Amino acid sequence: MKIKSTLLGLLALLGLLALAACATAPSTFSYAPPALPEPPSGYVDKPGWSARRFAVAAANPLATDAGYRVLKAGGSAVDAAVAVQMVLTLVEPQSSGIGGGAFLLHFNGQDVEAYDGRETAPAGADEKLFLDTDGKPLAFYDAVVGGRSVGVPGTVRMLEMAHRQHGKLPWAVLFEPAIALAEGGFKVSPRLNTLVRADAHLRKDPVASAYFFKPDGDARDVGFNLRNGELAAVLRKIAAEGSRGMHEGEVARAIVDKVRKHPSNPGRMTLADLAGYRAKKREPICHDYRARAKDYRICGFPPPGSGAIAVGQILGMLANTKAQALPLENGLPAANWLHLYLEASRLAFADRAQYLGDPDFVQPPAGNWMSLLEPSYLAGRARLIGPQSMKVAKAGVPGAAKAAYAPAPEQPDYGTSHISIVDGHGNAVAMTTTIEDAFGARQMVSVKGGTGGFLLNNELTDFSFAPADAQGLPIANRVQAGKRPRSSMAPTLVFDKATGQLVMSAGSPGGAMIIHFTAKTIYGMLDWGLNAQQAIDLPNFGSLNGPSILEDQRFPPATVEALRARGAEVRELAMTSGLQAIQKTPTGWFGGADPRREGVVRGD
Ligand code: GLU
Repeated sequence: MKIKSTLLGLLALLGLLALAACATAPSTFSYAPPALPEPPSGYVDKPGWSARRFAVAAANPLATDAGYRVLKAGGSAVDAAVAVQMVLTLVEPQSSGIGGGAFLLHFNGQDVEAYDGRETAPAGADEKLFLDTDGKPLAFYDAVVGGRSVGVPGTVRMLEMAHRQHGKLPWAVLFEPAIALAEGGFKVSPRLNTLVRADAHLRKDPVASAYFFKPDGDARDVGFNLRNGELAAVLRKIAAEGSRGMHEGEVARAIVDKVRKHPSNPGRMTLADLAGYRAKKREPICHDYRARAKDYRICGFPPPGSGAIAVGQILGMLANTKAQALPLENGLPAANWLHLYLEASRLAFADRAQYLGDPDFVQPPAGNWMSLLEPSYLAGRARLIGPQSMKVAKAGVPGAAKAAYAPAPEQPDYGTSHISIVDGHGNAVAMTTTIEDAFGARQMVSVKGGTGGFLLNNELTDFSFAPADAQGLPIANRVQAGKRPRSSMAPTLVFDKATGQLVMSAGSPGGAMIIHFTAKTIYGMLDWGLNAQQAIDLPNFGSLNGPSILEDQRFPPATVEALRARGAEVRELAMTSGLQAIQKTPTGWFGGADPRREGVVRGD
């Protein structure tokens, strides 16, 4: 035992030295980005990647690369997640970062643990936060842009907690890739360029404007070497001092100033809110699922996440229909299968709107969130699926619970990033991380007034703007001081029930559609026998309990017509998932990354 730990210590030290050497001499760090062939928008085929011992899948090649180097140096899956997240803060600032929140699901070879780094509402927030002076909900972007929507960030505190429990390399080392890239610069990717160009609000923030735009007002070009000295300094501080380097002192003061002093839409965050933020460890949501005569255990993130329950409900309802007897037709889900899926999604989203919220504030139906996944309850819900579309489903009554809450209207959300990792020590991570909308609240924090900084989230707009329905019945996901907004993030780990062996780690960004992107990938792999890449490549589809939404130009007209003939309103839209998944194979691992974004997988 002693020899083993000494050896591990030595390996960790070697890794540390390698990374530290790279940090002082970035030229030997070989962080030059792989070619980024991705066009500004659209679909680029990805091959899928095999590995034997470890693998990491993230939404940007530089972030994947940082995680790969950490794993190669003997780091754990959590170590790699820290390095990946710090690089994502820099290179994919539109989606996630230290100014946001995250859910991390961890498997240590035995148990699944859920680390909750979701943002919280400041102590000064109340249920009127997103109402105008007439008591009407604000227009979405009137709420988003500024300080009002900014939740107390949780990502760094959460990673620190997970690292204390599962880190193998020292915390500070894990910041070196991001610091080296922030100081030396990274090439603006096509996706970043596209999103900057498309954004109407980012340029209103003077710090963001100077960083993301050229002096003539155009977005920084693809391939421009963007340096972020302000972020590098903040990362150095967090590397040295831990999360206190961000939640207290000058960085905390800069965050609070940015939020409270916004000229037209200030927020209520205080230094005490930042200092008091706590990451939380929660019980994961796990349920059984049978596909192709095999039993699985699917684990996901509990409330305030709604993803695991909604994904579990959809899969559980489908298992009570004839869906599992319907194969792909010409490589695509057939109309009769889609009908069943879309009806199941309406039913799941009705329950989500009615019941889901922060468990520290909201009572689960029948006293237990698992009531929503009870097999007999799901069998009953599945019986509501008929040949014609129900168009809009009503929430069910799990465990015969009396409804204490009114259903919340669906609100838009976009952005976010997903990371899947398996390390060489038998651990795995599925982590979904977000600043909510693309570029969050469009507020960039610069501590010393230099170039760049980091973006603040607009996660509070994941609360229901309306606190109650027309009859005054409160909405579970209304704003309350210190509460965490309901999330759709669905980081998922799937296990072989008989052996307990990990089968896959998966997840996606995409707002409420995350639930459908993730459910599609799990179903594609378990029920249709696709590999991770093929399952991710399948066209996207889903319903948020309104229209049936299909990924644009991916389904034949006959499929669309068949769904319309069943009474559904069908809309074809771009559905930009950012799925990442790693699956177990007989020889090791196989990872897939979404062709709709810039992600890649690397491993050895
Ligand atoms: N803020 C959303 C959530 O946590 C995710 C947003 C997105 O994926 O675009 O549910």
